[in-house]
Amino acid sequence: MGLFKKRNIIILVLALVFALSNYYFFNKRAEDVFLLKEENFERSIYKIECELDTEDKTLSAIQELDYYNNDDIEMSEIYFHVYPNAFKKEETAPFLFDDFDSAYRSGFKPGYTEILSISKLEGENEKLLKHSFSGMGETILKVELDKPVEPKGRVDLKICFKLYIPPASERFGYGENNFNLGNWYPIAAVYDDKDGWNLDKYYPIGDPFFSDASDYKVSIKMPSDYTIAASGKNIRKKTEGNHTVWEFEESALRDFAFVANNNFKMIEEEFEGISIKSYYYEDDEERGKEALECGVKSIKLFNKLFGKYPYSDYSIVETEFPSGMEYPTLVYISDKLYNTDYNIDALIITVVHETAHQWFYGIVGNDQIDEAWLDEGFASYGEVLYAEYIYGKKTGVDYYEKSVEGNIEEALSTEAIDGSLSKSLSEFKDWGDYGPTAYGRGAQMLHELRKMLGDDNFFKILKAYVDKYKFKIAYTEDFIEICEEISGKDLSEFFRLWF
Ligand SMILES: [Zn+2]
Repeated sequence: MGLFKKRNIIILVLALVFALSNYYFFNKRAEDVFLLKEENFERSIYKIECELDTEDKTLSAIQELDYYNNDDIEMSEIYFHVYPNAFKKEETAPFLFDDFDSAYRSGFKPGYTEILSISKLEGENEKLLKHSFSGMGETILKVELDKPVEPKGRVDLKICFKLYIPPASERFGYGENNFNLGNWYPIAAVYDDKDGWNLDKYYPIGDPFFSDASDYKVSIKMPSDYTIAASGKNIRKKTEGNHTVWEFEESALRDFAFVANNNFKMIEEEFEGISIKSYYYEDDEERGKEALECGVKSIKLFNKLFGKYPYSDYSIVETEFPSGMEYPTLVYISDKLYNTDYNIDALIITVVHETAHQWFYGIVGNDQIDEAWLDEGFASYGEVLYAEYIYGKKTGVDYYEKSVEGNIEEALSTEAIDGSLSKSLSEFKDWGDYGPTAYGRGAQMLHELRKMLGDDNFFKILKAYVDKYKFKIAYTEDFIEICEEISGKDLSEFFRLWF
């Protein structure tokens, strides 16, 4: 997710003059482009057919999941996160930054998932399976299999459900013209050696999500006056009466989100086969164009620094949301930032940050509950790199000093943070602790690592890390291992200071 502070966003504009010096940077073709997609290992496949009722604010769905057991254990049950249930009660509703009034502008109304049936598919036959809910807000769903699925085995499940969408300007909710469908369908929990099944609750701090990359085919039926921006690629659109059915597909996505709005305009630009799109409200064309321009620059830059963006589409979407939020190939950007009274830098920083997440969170997955720094630290350092490469070295330094070091110093001096990166979401007191730690200290660590090892080694490390863990999950020790491998140094002393 993105955090923006007004006092940290005044530097970029001053430096537009430096931008031209980076012209040659982009015209030099990356010699080390690798195609992430060529790697073809087995994944789960989600096929979801749904219809969104814009009057009732409900969504009816049939979800078929061809589940792939990528672990070494036999599974006699499979766990899912059902995040919408967190929105059922005011006490558990995870509205951001403790700001109830901005989240629920028209008051609280519950949102949740009603599971209609869960069955196993065997050829033509369907067999009903037992299921139960647990966890805070009943966000954990356990499905009991009739017979275990072997390691590297598969099982076909069908989940029929209905969503009740809350009137919330959040990841999941509807607003005046928009429907935000983030973390909306039952998504399989990750099983790993560290925690077994990762069954964390929907923490109100951070982005409490953790999932395996999977293949997706999603069709969404809606009244034809709505435009849909979604994860993946729109492969078909057909009209049925006064409704339109939108079909999206993509492989190796960590999640699937969409935003529907009946007041959207869209502009796009092509870069090396990637269609970069900006969706904005009709009145916000000026900022919609800025968002696109910044998205294109970010993709170009990070393509070069982190490794090739492996998907065909990237959508930057204006919507009712308090800041920015990353989903695979799609990001929410707060509509507040499209208001021309608001400083343009906040929009730019947020777009850059969420775009960097496409690599760190999206392409390389991480446990965002136990090791949030692994995506937030990298995304925040992505902002610094953008400032440096697009506006010049001096801006990079200024931006780093103000937005990274400035925030940390303040937080350390007020003892808001203790500085350790190895904290899970349950251990953070509040956003004042989480932000300067996961974002600030994470970026600071990367910066110190870069100073110590030099640019050459540092960027080699980032690329090798993305290359090795693309579409997989990386842990802190995996990153450390790559740092030591590439630098040829024992870095245990250095990393001990940060964790
Ligand atoms: Zn973030």
